[in-house]
Amino acid sequence: MPLAAYTPRQIPEALTGLFTLALDLRWSWHHGSDDLWRAIDQETWSATRNAWLVLNSVSIDWLDSLAKDETFQSLYERQLEDYHQFTHAQTWYSDDCNGELDNTVAFFCMEYGLSESLPLYSGGLGVLAGDYLKAASDLGVPVVAVGLLFQQGYFRQNINAEGQQLEFYPYNDPTMLPVAPLTDKDGQWVRVVIPFAGRSVRLRAWRAQIGRCQLLLLDSNDPMNEPGDRGITSELYSSKPEKRLQQEIVLGIGGWRLLRQLGIEPAVCHINEGHSAFAFLERALSWKNDHGTDFETARMATRATNLFTTHTPVAAGFDHFSPSLIRLYLGPWMSSAGFTMDELMRLGSSSGGHSLRAEDEASLNMAYLGLKLCGRINGVSRIHHQVTQTLFQPYFPRWPAEDIPVEYVTNGVHTPSWDSPEADALWTIACGQDRWRRPMELRTPLASTSDTDLWSMRHSQRTRLVRYLRHRLSSQHCEHARGNNPSAACGLLLDNETLTLGFARRFTDYKRPDLLLKDPDRLMAMLNSRDHPLQIVLAGKAHPQDQQGKELIRRWKEFAFQPDAEGKVVFIEDYDLGVAAQLIQGVDVWLNCPRHPWEACGTSGMKILVNGGLNLSQYDGWWAEAWSEDVGWAIRPGADFEELSRSNEHDHSDALELYDLLENDVIPSFYTVNEEGRPEGWIKRIRASMDGLTARYSANRMVREYVEDFYLPMVKQGDFRTPDVARAMTSECRELEMQWSRLRFSSFEVTESDGRQTYTVDAYLDGVPDSRVAVELVANASEYGPREVHEMTMKHQLEGSEHGFVYECTVASRPEGHFTPRLRIRDERLNLPLENASVLWLK
Ligand SMILES: *Cc1c(COP(=O)(O)O)cnc(C)c1O
Repeated sequence: MPLAAYTPRQIPEALTGLFTLALDLRWSWHHGSDDLWRAIDQETWSATRNAWLVLNSVSIDWLDSLAKDETFQSLYERQLEDYHQFTHAQTWYSDDCNGELDNTVAFFCMEYGLSESLPLYSGGLGVLAGDYLKAASDLGVPVVAVGLLFQQGYFRQNINAEGQQLEFYPYNDPTMLPVAPLTDKDGQWVRVVIPFAGRSVRLRAWRAQIGRCQLLLLDSNDPMNEPGDRGITSELYSSKPEKRLQQEIVLGIGGWRLLRQLGIEPAVCHINEGHSAFAFLERALSWKNDHGTDFETARMATRATNLFTTHTPVAAGFDHFSPSLIRLYLGPWMSSAGFTMDELMRLGSSSGGHSLRAEDEASLNMAYLGLKLCGRINGVSRIHHQVTQTLFQPYFPRWPAEDIPVEYVTNGVHTPSWDSPEADALWTIACGQDRWRRPMELRTPLASTSDTDLWSMRHSQRTRLVRYLRHRLSSQHCEHARGNNPSAACGLLLDNETLTLGFARRFTDYKRPDLLLKDPDRLMAMLNSRDHPLQIVLAGKAHPQDQQGKELIRRWKEFAFQPDAEGKVVFIEDYDLGVAAQLIQGVDVWLNCPRHPWEACGTSGMKILVNGGLNLSQYDGWWAEAWSEDVGWAIRPGADFEELSRSNEHDHSDALELYDLLENDVIPSFYTVNEEGRPEGWIKRIRASMDGLTARYSANRMVREYVEDFYLPMVKQGDFRTPDVARAMTSECRELEMQWSRLRFSSFEVTESDGRQTYTVDAYLDGVPDSRVAVELVANASEYGPREVHEMTMKHQLEGSEHGFVYECTVASRPEGHFTPRLRIRDERLNLPLENASVLWLK
């Protein structure tokens, strides 16, 4: 989609290319143009890191003089040339993927964390979506992302002298954000209209350029809308269900309509979290109208290329809406789409459509809606994959958790956005300039880098962090200090040589920010050790409604106010991308101690890898995959996945383990140095962590997995489902469903010889062709071995029976009753059991 340049104001003719450069958020991670923005307006650039604001707030006179300045001209031309090369460069996608996704991947998410200058995010989900887009740009994967332009960003945080969180909601002025109105071929501002009861809601469309990708944003603040509707996109994650539903309708239905209006027919629709599941629905309905089919056929045809990524670790995390709200807000849309309330509510309930349970019927669950309209579904780490299997079990009655069709792609971070200047220099020498923009080996040894180089990199990063902390603390904390020691409050006790531990994340119960506070005396002793001291930097917001989370902040502040802790434990206010970037560059150890298994993945710990920081984390999420003794430290390593309801039983023992690790392992290892004054053991860990984990936990690897393991095979499956094929498959499915209840097993028998068992079973297929079913022999994991599933072979027809067949299978022996046969649908064209959960067990 080529875009016309957007020129909101007159600037000297010779400099108009600045508009294109300033509107591409590539400047937020690719620091090549920093000098340019600095030359235009040093003060605005360093305060906001917003090139668009820089360009639009300087005077025309100044721009005129820059246009005549030769030094500036050559800087500008070099940048234009670099940008030209960037947009025309070969990429991994253009070289390796045969244009199979040229119709674009549509990516939907409620929030995007791309830069502090575009505050449309609250936390991890948004930052992940931002990192995904940046990596897609690096790799050249054609992605068009869809989101909402909120009039207010997530709240900004101050903390008062009593340790209470204060919340401020700054206004997002679209003319100051690095976005442009989205215009059509005739230069008209694109608007999308969706029907609400008795009225239409008009949505304005914006675009942000993310390197080679686009992010399209909708907002409802059109003066022609009713006052209430103008506020639909006023704030992120409203706690009012009504507003959330409105937002999800705007995002999903409005977003899909926007793509259609632009003439985009995406090859794949990828929703990041269930908030945008209405996009699948609108997609199916527009396909149905285009091809004149029924809804089931449209669902069959479109779902093959719908991918649903879930990040939720608990069922309560799925959004769900009452029938009355659904009727109120989706009624007009349903009648225009030829869809009934019943059909919609059935799609959003946990039952496969057979036996509705009363409590499921009560609400529309966005995760179940996503599940019923998608072709593949994935969690975001190995453990989260298991958790998700149990969450979706109600939808697959009679299927064991292991067979629930959820896959996983472990999250990753956009390495070039998180590396420090020091780390960038070091990696460039070791692995070359383009290392993060091309497919990489998952091990990237820093063979040519000496221990001296690594250690001096760590030292300069820590020194820079301390400088940054002092700067922040003196600007925001001094006035709040409760007076014991003003210089401590301003960070003057922080030290460049001291082991620095970082903890920054949402302050909420399951993240256990208070784990280190369980034994304050023990913590105090570590802070005050004369030879081996520790210093701690904390940051994080509590959701405005989360009183418990706010209390956790208050307790830390109280602890930090004590004379012995003052200046050694510092709390940086207003955690956001900018603060995160500074902390993850400088800390030696990053602590993450969520309650296992509540952390779907966690990404902040991945951000420190490239900079040589080390992780000390709960064995959960990504760390359960990445951890080994030579790369860092794990609390309760090897912990088995267990029930969420019992997960807080370990709080006490986890805290003890954390103290033990710090006292006996982490701290001594940092301070045990060789003759040259370097901690060899520590540096060895840094090397192992950088070599082995940086590339593996990058968004580059994540995006490639999405492309190779999901998008490309999904497109193949989708191509096969033409309207005619989809029609035929749908009617076959219906027929099978009607016949299914009449299928049955009988005479299950076993014979044994030489430690092997041969099982036979009779199956009555009632006219269903035997090519359409698979009979499997299943044993659960037990002391006799892991779980086994074997396909049984059809031997012959049962004598005297038209629909009876004998199935057989020989396996290594297990005790009686361990093996059971089951009958399931066999169909290469479907993703099973997601698309048809029919199953028959002998018992
Ligand atoms: C990376 C990041 C997160 C997510 O971190 P978790 O480890 O998932 O808690 C949240 N907020 C910001 C500002 C981040 O940069």
